[in-house]
Amino acid sequence: MANVSAALNRTQFTTKDMESLAQYAHKTRSEYCMGCAHICESTVNANIPISDIMRYLMYWRSYDDRNRAVGFFNNIPKEMRSHMGNQDYSQAEKMCPQQMPISKLIREAVTELS
Ligand code: SF4
Repeated sequence: MANVSAALNRTQFTTKDMESLAQYAHKTRSEYCMGCAHICESTVNANIPISDIMRYLMYWRSYDDRNRAVGFFNNIPKEMRSHMGNQDYSQAEKMCPQQMPISKLIREAVTELS
């Protein structure tokens, strides 16, 4: 309902509003995955679904839906989950347009969602 209400709201943003929103988006970009998996996942030789894992973390942290996050995360094959915390994500982090701390986030997912 909140989404429908927001979509129907015809309030016009001022230029200053838009600038403020752009600044906020820029400052908080490392907390938001854009789902551009083709950028980061091709830099890791283990087929790790980085983008999906970022989304599962979002379910937990942003939507407060830990059960959903755990359910999806544990659908990843166990062997992959056991190795993903030890991969080198440095190139993925260099390429990420959101400058997300991918290595740290993957390790958190392994620890918190397994
Ligand atoms: S490159 Fe960054 S923003 Fe894009 S999918 Fe990977 S982690 Fe998310």
